[in-house]
Amino acid sequence: MKIAVIENEKIVVKNAPNITLDNRDGAIVKVLGCGLCGSDIVKFREKISPDGTVLGHEIVAEIVDINSKTDFKKGDRIITSHHIPCGTCHYCKSGNVSMCKHFKSTNIRPGGFSELVYVSEEHLSNVAYLIPENLTEVEASFYEPLGCCVRAVKRARLMESSSVLVVGLGSIGILMAQALRAFGMNVIGCDLIDERVELLKSFGINAINVKDLDENFEKTDAVFMTSGADKALDTALKAIRSGGTILVFSSTPLNSGYPNNEIYYRELTVLGSYSPSPADLKDSLGLLETGKVNVKGISTTYKLDDIQKAFDDTISNRIMKAYIEINK
Ligand SMILES: [Zn+2]
Ligand SMILES: [Zn+2]
Repeated sequence: MKIAVIENEKIVVKNAPNITLDNRDGAIVKVLGCGLCGSDIVKFREKISPDGTVLGHEIVAEIVDINSKTDFKKGDRIITSHHIPCGTCHYCKSGNVSMCKHFKSTNIRPGGFSELVYVSEEHLSNVAYLIPENLTEVEASFYEPLGCCVRAVKRARLMESSSVLVVGLGSIGILMAQALRAFGMNVIGCDLIDERVELLKSFGINAINVKDLDENFEKTDAVFMTSGADKALDTALKAIRSGGTILVFSSTPLNSGYPNNEIYYRELTVLGSYSPSPADLKDSLGLLETGKVNVKGISTTYKLDDIQKAFDDTISNRIMKAYIEINK
């Protein structure tokens, strides 16, 4: 089977022995395609993942071999996420499921940018679903990233109809804005790139260029940060009303953050949200299936052999998000 691995600061497509189920439970799936996540870019660019790593986790796949107590069968086309919480540890019981040790240790193997992947029984019974008939493979690949956004919206615990500014309209910002709207919020998005502003508008959500965010801009109840640029942090502090909530959904350059005294004197709440729970993923699928979140026009498709170009084009902002087509 073909796999894409990190090697000498490049993404290289190689041949590897086919993986097989042997006596394990779970399934071997043929990956139809896999979204390229911002976290894959960070792991590659910041050299967090060692050589030999197969990145990718936003998979759309077809079961080719299965030994499972679930109802899934050979030939089923599925989506799955990669991490599963244990449900019983202190983190899980406190609602911080994505901090659970088990959550962090579970994965699809070897990784999504591979022709074949092993999906465990635990994945099949907790986070895998059939692809709804009305979704294309590319649309279905947004199941996991949208799940992350759903979790962020829930964690912010906003009152219905709260005003929310989404800072950064990359693919995640576009999903986040629509997830917020689906949960009944009054949303506006901002970005420095006009095409991204226009894309959000095309989904029926108000959006402006950051340079038009002046003193006349009415401060919002919450700011969702899908950009971590230093300037974006300034934007958040300018746009948030006193007593408001800043939801952090992106890493920032080292040593940057929100000033203590702004948080104290203005009674701000700053909180993070990381990765989705199984319940968030289920909600995400519902939003995609009912069309409450529309993902048309966000992804650009690349063949597995062109995966390096997909990384390069994402890093240089030539495209918003890449989808790697693997078995067609
Ligand atoms: Zn992801
Ligand atoms: Zn746990």
